[in-house]
Amino acid sequence: MGSALRLKFWGTRGLISSPNKDTAIYGGNTSCIQLLHKSDLIIIDTGFGVTNLGEVLMPRILAGQESLTVHIFYTHFHWDHIQGLPFFHPIYFPTSTLNLYSPLPTESMKENLDLLFDGSYSPFAGVDSMPSKVNFISIKDSLEVSGLKISHRPLDHGWPQANTFAYKFEEENTGITLVVASDHEARPSPINDQLISFAHACDLLVHDAQYTEQEYKDYVGWGHSSMKQALDNSLKSKAKRTLLSHHDPKRTDNELKKAKKDYSQQESYKGLDFDFAKESVIYTLEKK
Ligand SMILES: [Zn+2]
Ligand SMILES: [Zn+2]
Repeated sequence: MGSALRLKFWGTRGLISSPNKDTAIYGGNTSCIQLLHKSDLIIIDTGFGVTNLGEVLMPRILAGQESLTVHIFYTHFHWDHIQGLPFFHPIYFPTSTLNLYSPLPTESMKENLDLLFDGSYSPFAGVDSMPSKVNFISIKDSLEVSGLKISHRPLDHGWPQANTFAYKFEEENTGITLVVASDHEARPSPINDQLISFAHACDLLVHDAQYTEQEYKDYVGWGHSSMKQALDNSLKSKAKRTLLSHHDPKRTDNELKKAKKDYSQQESYKGLDFDFAKESVIYTLEKK
C-alpha cells in the first residue's frame, strides 16, 4: 500500500467570496487548500475558506489542550489569499503554532500580514500580538515539511510587485507531485515556459482559470488565465491531472459544468484529465 497525498479545497474563488445558491457546488470561499499527508497540517493560502477549516480543528484544541502546528504556504499576499487569517480560530490559542512560509523576506511577510491585525481594522496590535506562536520562514531554494520536498517558481501575476509563486510538493518516497499555480496569467513568456517545465509530468496541476476566452480579451495583463490558457499549460506540461481554480466570483455552478463539458468535447483536450476544483471534495493522488 503506497502512501498517498490528498488535498481538500476550502476555498476555490478568486477576488471575493461569493456564497449563494448558484455557487454551492464549486464553492464560494476565497482561496485555501489543505494538504492531507501523514498527520501533518499543511495549508496553501488563507483566504476565507481557512475559517471553516479552523472550526473543524477546534474540538481537538478545546478538548485536550492539544498543541497544534500548522504549516501555511503563501502564494502571495493579495487579500483573497490572506483575509481569513484573523478569523482562523486556532490563532487565538497559545497551544497553536503557525509556521508561515513564503519565498519573500520574513520582514515583507510580516509587514503584509500585520495590516490584517492593525488596530485600525481590528481590535489587535499586529500579528505578533495574537496568542498563538507565529513563525515566519523565508524559503530559499527548497525545504522539507512532513516528508514533502517543497520548491517554488515565480508566476506572472500581472505586475512584478505582485511577487507571486507556484509551489511544487513532492512526496519523497513515492515521487507523487502536486504543483499549485494560482494567480498566474499563462500568456507566452519566459515565466510561463518556466512554469511548464516546473510542472512537467506532475501528478496534479492546480491552475488559475479565472476567465472565459471572451472575458480574457478585456483582462489581458491582469494576472489571471483563461480556461483555455490553463488547459494549454496542462497539455504542454503533460500534467497527469489538472484542477482549474480561482473561479471568477460571478461564475455559477452551471457555467462551470457547461465549460467542463464544452472543453472536454474539443479535439485538443479530448482525453485530458481535468475538472474545475470543488470546495470540500477530497482529491487523492496515489502511485498505482
Ligand atoms: Zn487571487
Ligand atoms: Zn492575486
